[in-house]
Amino acid sequence: MALIVKKFGGSSVATPEKMFNIVNRVLAGKKEDDNIVLVVSAMGDTTDELVSLAKQVTSHPYGREMDRLLSTGEQMSIALMAMAFMEKGHPAVSMTGEQAGIKSSNAYGKGRITDIDPSRVFEALKGGNIVIVAGFQGITDDGDITTLGRGGSDTTAVALAGAMKADVCEIFTDVEGVYSTDPRISPNAVKLAEITYGEMLEMARLGAGVMQPRAVEMGSRYGVPIHVRSTFSDNEGTIIREAYTMSANEHVITGVADDTNVAKVSLAGVENKPGVAHTIFQTLADGNVDVDMIVQSVRTINDALTDIVFTITRDDVVLAKDILENLKKTIRMDDFVINEHMAKVSIVGAGMLGQPGVAAKMFGILSAEGINIEIISTSEISISCLIAEDRVKEAVHAIHDKLVLDGRG
Ligand code: ADP
Ligand code: ASP
Ligand code: MG
Repeated sequence: MALIVKKFGGSSVATPEKMFNIVNRVLAGKKEDDNIVLVVSAMGDTTDELVSLAKQVTSHPYGREMDRLLSTGEQMSIALMAMAFMEKGHPAVSMTGEQAGIKSSNAYGKGRITDIDPSRVFEALKGGNIVIVAGFQGITDDGDITTLGRGGSDTTAVALAGAMKADVCEIFTDVEGVYSTDPRISPNAVKLAEITYGEMLEMARLGAGVMQPRAVEMGSRYGVPIHVRSTFSDNEGTIIREAYTMSANEHVITGVADDTNVAKVSLAGVENKPGVAHTIFQTLADGNVDVDMIVQSVRTINDALTDIVFTITRDDVVLAKDILENLKKTIRMDDFVINEHMAKVSIVGAGMLGQPGVAAKMFGILSAEGINIEIISTSEISISCLIAEDRVKEAVHAIHDKLVLDGRG
């Protein structure tokens, strides 16, 4: 008897016809005693449409109300999916995040799952139902809805699979698996048969939107194998697991990721003394602004002052502006500038550990394309460069073809 969690993304459930397609395939593949839990996203571009509706009302991020609004997208799709199963003769029941026992932190728009009590899901399965759970949402201890960040249905699915000790979590999407780079950007992208949690987490964190980073983290923590595959074909996709099982999949560079949800914040003429950086970044953290790359420059002319440059996601620009305006009243700063037209291009691969020269090759490729690098950051298994947004596609093509494909021979 298998327990399987299957997650279907927005494009997979975009229309009633697509929903029936899923119902037919799930029922055709289901063995008599299989227990099936579906996690679904909002239909098509519903979440984006809800965001733009809110923007027509206000530019202020009213977190609590925003999350209530955004969570409605998934509530539509779970109810429709449950009706579609019943229409095809199989009992089904839909559950909101709260009903499925998903507790979340109170960080609106980027809630974290803090606990899951799936007893109601188990009960419904026992009653012979297929259970359809709303992705992307949880409930705080105070009873407020929080959403889990864009792409958060992935995290709902993997976390639920972990809490229920499912045999596998299948992520059904509009591509056939995880590729060496976004297949919509590069026609030369190669489908990976498998990838480790560590490398997938790095790819996702650096912008490979096929999986939400937290979902990969959950998979790793609970040891849930994740199978990323196509909603529209039966082909094997990509297995995300602890270690490679085929040495053929070990390469110096596994993939290239890009992220255009990036804004660069430059603080000029900040006082150069202990405690200032702490105040700035603690205040941003208290306001729930995630900071990524950070550079503090050395001034030779006036070393009483320094410049600090860092990156944030574009979603946080309004929030960051408010926070920095306030900070200007308490710490010394000439001014701050936010540039929203930046992007980050990154290479990822556990194989680059102990391989000198990989960074130099990446910078050489960008320089040959005439692309300026503004900030560089590295981890053990990745190198990232901040560049102008309008050059990002060229950068991905060049780096992918010259570093990833050449490395595969
Ligand atoms: P869903 O609605 O199913 O969650 P997403 O749009 O969130 O789908 O994720 C799938 C998309 O991720 C693909 O259409 C593809 O453009 C993008 N993507 C980015 N990087 C990669 C990658 N390395 N491999 C596969 N897909 C990627
Ligand atoms: N509907 C949400 C979004 O568009 C969650 C998801 O699809 O995973 O981000
Ligand atoms: Mg997604």
